[in-house]
Amino acid sequence: MIEIIELSKYYGTKQVLSNINMTFLEGNVYGIVGENGAGKTTLFRCIAGLEYYEGKINARLSPLKNHLGLLLTEPYLFSKITGKEYIQLLCNAREIKIGDIDLKNIFELPLNQYASTYSTGMKKKLAITAILLQENTYFILDEPFNGVDIQSNIIITEIIHKLRELNKIVIISSHIFSTLSDTCDEIHLLKNGVFIKTVKKEEFTQLETEMKEMTVGNKIEKLELK
Ligand code: ADP
Repeated sequence: MIEIIELSKYYGTKQVLSNINMTFLEGNVYGIVGENGAGKTTLFRCIAGLEYYEGKINARLSPLKNHLGLLLTEPYLFSKITGKEYIQLLCNAREIKIGDIDLKNIFELPLNQYASTYSTGMKKKLAITAILLQENTYFILDEPFNGVDIQSNIIITEIIHKLRELNKIVIISSHIFSTLSDTCDEIHLLKNGVFIKTVKKEEFTQLETEMKEMTVGNKIEKLELK
């Protein structure tokens, strides 16, 4: 379990998250949606212990960050290390013996090349591989589907299903609604740093329709496309 109690976050005088209360349970996949700037990444960074915040974040396994696989939108990769060394480094940090990395290279990455030379999608796949091999219990995946090819999207979707089966907690953000409806048990709508709505699986279609109406409205007609 991860429990967030009265979490608030300010950058200077600007409040980015306001009194967030939320409980994430094992064996569930949670989607966080919201417009750019809603506070998703800040929330993830708070959970990961990368930011100071007001309020409390408790987890069954403590310290939370030692059991968390965090995939950032643009993973940071050190220069002059190969893909293989990156994976090894992350696994060493958890004292995990992974054996033959090449056998676990499911995204078929050029693991002997410097990771800094990888494309955006390849970097993301490398970071995903590493946090999976770290045997984490909690996963936060900030836009895992963005910038990777369609084959990898299919693999990532299946990985998320497997993580649920393994009783992990998975929290993901995505701007592609179908990826969330395929993977999540619940979707939480974040607006201006506040959770304004929680939607269960059976109401996903209704949420998609509502979001479409809210965001598209009559904008397309305004273009007077001919
Ligand atoms: P999202 O991930 O939903 O797009 P973010 O969490 O990145 O939103 O950003 C939420 C708000 O916090 C935005 O208004 C953004 O400009 C602001 N913000 C994010 N990081 C910083 C920072 N390091 N310093 C100041 N403001 C920030």
